[in-house]
Amino acid sequence: MYTAYLQRLSEAGLLRTIADRNCPQGRTILRGGAQLLNFASNDYLGLAAGNVITGEARRAMADFGLGAGASRLLSGGCTLHGELERKVAAFKGTEAALVFNSGYTANVSAIPALATKEGAIFSDELNHASIVDGCRLSGAERFVYRHGSLSHLAELLQASTRTPKLVITESVFSMDGDVADIGGICELCKAHNALLYVDDAHATGVLAGGRGSLAYFNIPLDDNIIQMGTFSKALGSMGGFIAASGTIIEYLVNSARGLIYSTALPAPVVAASLAAIDYVQGNPDVVATLHANIANCKRLLQLLGIHVHDAPTAIVPIYVETVADALRISGQLTARGIYAPAIRPPTVKQPRIRISLSALHSDEDIKHLSASLAEVIGCP
Ligand SMILES: *Cc1c(COP(=O)(O)O)cnc(C)c1O
Repeated sequence: MYTAYLQRLSEAGLLRTIADRNCPQGRTILRGGAQLLNFASNDYLGLAAGNVITGEARRAMADFGLGAGASRLLSGGCTLHGELERKVAAFKGTEAALVFNSGYTANVSAIPALATKEGAIFSDELNHASIVDGCRLSGAERFVYRHGSLSHLAELLQASTRTPKLVITESVFSMDGDVADIGGICELCKAHNALLYVDDAHATGVLAGGRGSLAYFNIPLDDNIIQMGTFSKALGSMGGFIAASGTIIEYLVNSARGLIYSTALPAPVVAASLAAIDYVQGNPDVVATLHANIANCKRLLQLLGIHVHDAPTAIVPIYVETVADALRISGQLTARGIYAPAIRPPTVKQPRIRISLSALHSDEDIKHLSASLAEVIGCP
């Protein structure tokens, strides 16, 4: 049965394989023996392999060792964990925060804890798999609203008498790069007495000087807004977090199973996340460089007649008709020294090339990308 499944995937061009790089994450990567310009990383600020965070990680390793040895609730946490939570809370403007081992763990732990079986979840149809899995693990009634549709969300909220109500959206959608109307969703949540849970995985370190989507939309925070994020993308490290009111955080400490039943993050990783937040706050020019690269890339793609979204985000998809097109284009880009992956079902419905920009890219890199795309997509 497993073999037949793999055979079917293979015939449909949907078989996935793991291709490890043999070098640090960065502007270029070594893959399958070739040095490629890297347009496939979520390390948007180029922090992952740099001294800014690896130096702090080394220091923490000397002070605290590597393995955490236990869950946070036993002896697993060190003082750096608490320090990181205070820093995240200050960065996100909340009373408190809680660190998880990954963004995935944060979603599959916090969502089922917050959406109890008496409650209801309202989730955007394009939400990330970790949100979908968190919703599935919850005993709450689940509603999926059409991508970005405030009217559909309002309709569903109106029709439900359940409580608590939890509305979940990504701020920057991970495969499309568009930005949710967080202000509009927030208004609906207020009107229907719902909690708002925003996944800022691709907004943290990117929007509003890195502070994320709530700051970007100038939304005053209150106890009904829960911000989720990850240290694993623009912050270059590893781990996830929830930033929220003190009560919500205390509740999660007592109910989020991925926190309670999993060993804490290693101290060096926590130290790296601390250093990354300090760096983003202290170096607005790096976030500005990322945004200059985003604007430059989108401008060049538009000149090629490629439709691009109008959001200031580092994810720029190029939609194509078929899985075969996506694989062909990605392969031809590789032959031109560019790694820009084909994203296929079931991750997305419509196949695409997903370009991720970084502050490390030069103008030349982006020019080479657009010139290569012009050749392989067949634009004038
Ligand atoms: C990557 C991602 C996550 C998971 O974060 P990790 O730290 O990589 O586990 C969660 N939500 C969204 C929207 C993501 O893109």
